[in-house]
Amino acid sequence: MSSQPENLQARIVEGVKRVLGERAGMVLLHGPEFAGHEWAYVKECIDTAWVSSAGAYVGRFEQSLADYTGAKYAVATVNGTAALFVALQLVGVQPGDEVLIPALTFIATANAVTYCHARPHLCDVEETTLGLDAGKLGAYLREIAKIEGGQCINKRTGARIRAIVPMHTFGHAVDLEGLLAVAQEWGLVVVEDAAESLGSFYHGQHTGTFGRLGILSFNGNKIVTTGGGGAILTNDADLARHAKHITTTAKVPHAWEFYHDETGYNYRMPNINAALGVAQLEQLPGFVERKRRLARRYLDEFAGVGGVRVMTEPAGCASNYWLNTLVLDKSDKGLRDQILGALNEAKIQSRPIWQPMHKLPMYDKCPRMDLSTTDNLSGRIINVPSSAGLMAR
Ligand SMILES: *Cc1c(COP(=O)(O)O)cnc(C)c1O
Repeated sequence: MSSQPENLQARIVEGVKRVLGERAGMVLLHGPEFAGHEWAYVKECIDTAWVSSAGAYVGRFEQSLADYTGAKYAVATVNGTAALFVALQLVGVQPGDEVLIPALTFIATANAVTYCHARPHLCDVEETTLGLDAGKLGAYLREIAKIEGGQCINKRTGARIRAIVPMHTFGHAVDLEGLLAVAQEWGLVVVEDAAESLGSFYHGQHTGTFGRLGILSFNGNKIVTTGGGGAILTNDADLARHAKHITTTAKVPHAWEFYHDETGYNYRMPNINAALGVAQLEQLPGFVERKRRLARRYLDEFAGVGGVRVMTEPAGCASNYWLNTLVLDKSDKGLRDQILGALNEAKIQSRPIWQPMHKLPMYDKCPRMDLSTTDNLSGRIINVPSSAGLMAR
């Protein structure tokens, strides 16, 4: 039986409450869980005084990340934004270049481009994955771009388009096959923003390992947290070495001499954060399994309810379901906000998707394609509580 639209708000609030059951206090959108060896590992850092970036947990964390994702190399950083900024520099994004990014993303994607003195070029997303629309991007580039001297040039601005940054929204893999083909056709480098998709696989391969470089985030709200942190993933030994070098002030190793051979950054993850990360990664398979069980509950609860759908993993993909997502059939900010108000009122922390980049004052003049799907989606999305801790172990 399908609900009437006027009952939709009540039906959604009732459904989310049923999925979550009785809970004391505010149910967070995404809270961390520290039920493993976190205390022991962090205590060890303090007891041994190895709290900063030279400690052994940093290397252990990197190895665990490489093992889990299948990337040959992982380089741990202070946060995901720093990882993305460094990754873009490493693939040769230069001042004045343009970088293709989704208009519907977290601000860090656009900011990392800006830190390179390059320009975000905003692209539309698909309704199914909420990620970059490869077909639309291909058609757009045929209209506005040309290849000149082996470079992709924007005919309208004269700037070089250097890279594409696909982002796996809420942990659902984007159309990588389509985007890799577009990148290949136009000589663009792919850097994946996999900040939200640790634990998500595209056709059996971990997200963040398809581009020349990929990045992860371990912020407090992500599936695995180090307090704050990030990582660069790559299969390229030279890029991995260079990533580690410039995130550790580009110091040339020597027992006492301070010699730095380029402008580097103090972006290495401290040991105390990495210790937390090692303990968290030990629990990642369990986190993914419980989050997928919670997603199944939301999917079952709203199956057949008219006016709304729950986002599900794309065909051939396995999602970590970082954030569960309700998508209203019709773009209606009024209804969306009423639902958000009612959920938060009921102590169920819920939020809309980000304001699209072209609606922000720093990015409203960026080059962009038609963004009708982005505009339409931004009034239809509600994220609901998704912590692994909501499901029994
Ligand atoms: C979390 C996130 C980042 C990185 O964030 P940090 O807080 O710097 O670790 C980048 N892109 C997206 C899409 C994110 O969600």
